[in-house]
Amino acid sequence: MTQRLAVELESLGLACEVLHERNGTGSSDPALVASAGRAENGLILLVGHLDTVLPANATRRDGDRLFGTGALDMKGGLVTLIAALTLLRERGLSIPNDLVFVGTPDEESSGAISERLTRQWAARARVVVVLEPGLPHGDGETIVVGRRGLTEWRLDIRGTPAHSGLAYWSGRSALAAAADWCGRAQNMSQPGIGATVNVARLVAGDSDFVRQLERHHGLLGTSRRRNVVPDHALAEGEIRFLSNRDRERTLRQLRGLADRVAEIHGVEVAFTIGDTLPPVAPLRSAEELAARTLAFAEQRGWTLHVERDRGGISFSNYLEDNSIIPVLDGLGPVGAGMHTREEHLDLRSLRRRILLLADLLPTL
Ligand SMILES: [Zn+2]
Repeated sequence: MTQRLAVELESLGLACEVLHERNGTGSSDPALVASAGRAENGLILLVGHLDTVLPANATRRDGDRLFGTGALDMKGGLVTLIAALTLLRERGLSIPNDLVFVGTPDEESSGAISERLTRQWAARARVVVVLEPGLPHGDGETIVVGRRGLTEWRLDIRGTPAHSGLAYWSGRSALAAAADWCGRAQNMSQPGIGATVNVARLVAGDSDFVRQLERHHGLLGTSRRRNVVPDHALAEGEIRFLSNRDRERTLRQLRGLADRVAEIHGVEVAFTIGDTLPPVAPLRSAEELAARTLAFAEQRGWTLHVERDRGGISFSNYLEDNSIIPVLDGLGPVGAGMHTREEHLDLRSLRRRILLLADLLPTL
């Protein structure tokens, strides 16, 4: 994919370099940097990822829908870029010489290289354009100026084991406490712009079972060790939020809930926090860019809306927490079935997005 893109971008006059980036598992993956000129700072940075979630299948076309692995997320965005640059040339316009495209190999897996390269290159950018897909919305489609951040959490509960027949009332069920906590935590989620809590995993049972799941999973579906009040539970999940204030408040509530559940159930509860990716707050400069983009769409006879609370994590979340660089996200075409075998791209949207990017790029 890196080489295929490099061929296309070199034919448009961009200088391409394939980087071999450490991927955290002892080997490296290729990333692509394509530059239109020699600009050192104040770049127009376009970012996209070259990988897909599922391994590739054959593509097929059904009318205006193109089915393929990653057709929507996000080969559509990459094609939009190449076609928009081609269109600029056809219009006799030059490609802005401070334009740089960075294509990363791991957005859909660890994201470590995407994060590193985005931070590194964004430090030299005056505007960042993310070629991730937009969404269909009402009578039109969307672009994105704000994204939710996330914080991972983990709940570890220790109760007291007991024979469920002989000594039931002296047991303290870690499972019951964890289920109680998880149900209440999930219910804290607020629709709309509020923070959400997702309990992603819950494992509970006797301590051996929880600690060594790989050895003891055979217990599931059998009668063995059902006669033990479970003394260990582990839950893992994340919260998503639009502001750091929402993050703090939600974490405070989850901690408070942990204390209450410990008291009610007579168990020990440890609530810990893992990795955080900051939210992307819509900057005024990004809103101005978005307004300009909406106007270009309107001139071409279609409607764009602005998303300020996109839930998925993407490149813009990798910028520094207090970044002041405007980010225009979701510039890629829309479709449906992302990350499934039914993933497809709307080819009419692709045509609209190509024109949109070609109209926008010379004004950035
Ligand atoms: Zn993507």
